[in-house]
Amino acid sequence: MTETTAALEALLMQRSLTDAQLEAAAETAADFRILPDATVLKIGGQSVIDRGRAAVYPLVDEIVAARKAHKLLIGTGAGTRARHLYSIAAGLNLPAGVLAQLGASVADQNAAMLGQLLAKHGISAVDGAGLSTVPLYLAEVNGVVFSGMPPYKLWIRPAAESVIPPYRTDAGCFLVAEQFGCKAMIYVKDEDGLYTANPKTSKDATFIPKISVDEMKAKGLQDSILEFPVLDLLQQARHVRQVQIVNGLVPGNLTRALAGEPVGTIITAR
Ligand code: ADP
Ligand code: MG
Repeated sequence: MTETTAALEALLMQRSLTDAQLEAAAETAADFRILPDATVLKIGGQSVIDRGRAAVYPLVDEIVAARKAHKLLIGTGAGTRARHLYSIAAGLNLPAGVLAQLGASVADQNAAMLGQLLAKHGISAVDGAGLSTVPLYLAEVNGVVFSGMPPYKLWIRPAAESVIPPYRTDAGCFLVAEQFGCKAMIYVKDEDGLYTANPKTSKDATFIPKISVDEMKAKGLQDSILEFPVLDLLQQARHVRQVQIVNGLVPGNLTRALAGEPVGTIITAR
């Protein structure tokens, strides 16, 4: 046992696990990324997959071409069917943990469909984005599809005021990217990025190419294009310190983002 491990072990035996000195001692190890060469994509549910073939087929072509040069973890959103389920279940006064499971089933459906479309290219959909198979798929075919909802199920931390699960597929995909220490997190949606207001309802909204989490909050945009808990996850992240949002309805945008171009909006932790 090294000296630092021994010191940490001593603290762990004596202190509360949230003791400040213990927390500092647990932070001394060098940074380690599990899948540093992979990029996580989130394919929007409402914004992309619900549009059907017109939106999905061109993206599939782009993904198939992109994976020649990039390792892609492809997460799915849920969308309109989940919102329909939430409306029924909330009307029945069912709790957040039940709604989280219902929402997950829709993200699963989208992962199943995307998996069928990518199957002939050798890209599989996995049941969980855990480590049992993901590294092998990435090593062999540079791509894998997963269901974007985080698997909190009944144990989701409920929001204060609502039974709608606060951590949905934007958060689920972000957490995969952060936990695996991935290179980038790209959200594929149906707008060019973040605007000063929802472009679907505000015609004079202006586009914001780059912004920090604090600036977003200062402008009152925390609850807009991403699920708002993602902003706090991003600020606390060790590896993924920015996310990019691109319009997946515009062919080539995803490819440009993967090439490191500043297409769409970049949201930075600081
Ligand atoms: P997903 O399909 O990934 O779940 P959402 O539909 O939840 O995506 O989120 C994207 C939507 O967010 C856009 O279609 C847009 O209508 C909406 N939106 C709300 N506020 C903003 C904003 N300020 N800028 C851009 N989009 C916004
Ligand atoms: Mg959404």
